[in-house]
Amino acid sequence: MTYDADNIFARILRGEIPCHRVHEDADTLAFMDIMPQTEGHTLVIPKASAEDIFSAPPAVLAATMQATQRIAAAVRKAFDAPGVMIAQLNGPAAGQTVFHLHFHVIPRYAGKDFRMKSGPMADQATLAAHAARIRAAL
Ligand code: AMP
Repeated sequence: MTYDADNIFARILRGEIPCHRVHEDADTLAFMDIMPQTEGHTLVIPKASAEDIFSAPPAVLAATMQATQRIAAAVRKAFDAPGVMIAQLNGPAAGQTVFHLHFHVIPRYAGKDFRMKSGPMADQATLAAHAARIRAAL
């Protein structure tokens, strides 16, 4: 499969579609997932065009994992989460729906039911407040 430069995350990176930005550096962008699986669900993506883990050069993966570690720590702190799940899906059979490499950072809470599937669309004010909480924890 070739990289589709019009996928939704590429459009977010170009500023064509808004997002609730948590953090940005030269190589990566972190923003709130629009259909959070739990409160605080954040996505970390490389700025480089790679559709999945197999097509990303090692340096891109390294930068994205370092950003993911930092964002995960901030999410854990911001939401006082006892657990944080990092998920990354490759290919439709694995459930990948957006074909620009991304890492899900998902706070997990003991005893709370969890299914690996998108939640309902969150309202914009809630996502903005959550992004601010995580930024403050960086
Ligand atoms: P995946 O199924 O691993 O490809 O995950 C794609 C994720 O992108 C899902 O969790 C969606 O909720 C999320 N998503 C799709 N469109 C947007 C968007 N415009 N802004 C933020 N998150 C999005």
